[in-house]
Amino acid sequence: MSYDTINILHLEQFKSKIELLETRLERNVLIIELKFYKQQILCPICGSAHIRFLEYKYKKIIHSISTHEKSVIRWHMRRYQCKLCKKTFSESNPLSRLK
Ligand SMILES: [Zn+2]
Repeated sequence: MSYDTINILHLEQFKSKIELLETRLERNVLIIELKFYKQQILCPICGSAHIRFLEYKYKKIIHSISTHEKSVIRWHMRRYQCKLCKKTFSESNPLSRLK
């Protein structure tokens, strides 16, 4: 993980939560692969702690580093299923507090 990238993206406050941070250029757009560490999570419907990991979804978060360079964060969002009530849900996005 590059500390510079964290600084550029102003993610310092999330540094301890970031599991993966990789950048690459695709047609002049900076693509940032971002994954956070797994959090302790409870079923939002029934409150059960018996949660099964399902899959990753890739959510795009538009993030402007500067006016000259476009960048997109591809957030690896975990999907879970509750073993008790069978409902599926996603982990919360720590970056949503930035908006
Ligand atoms: Zn549940």
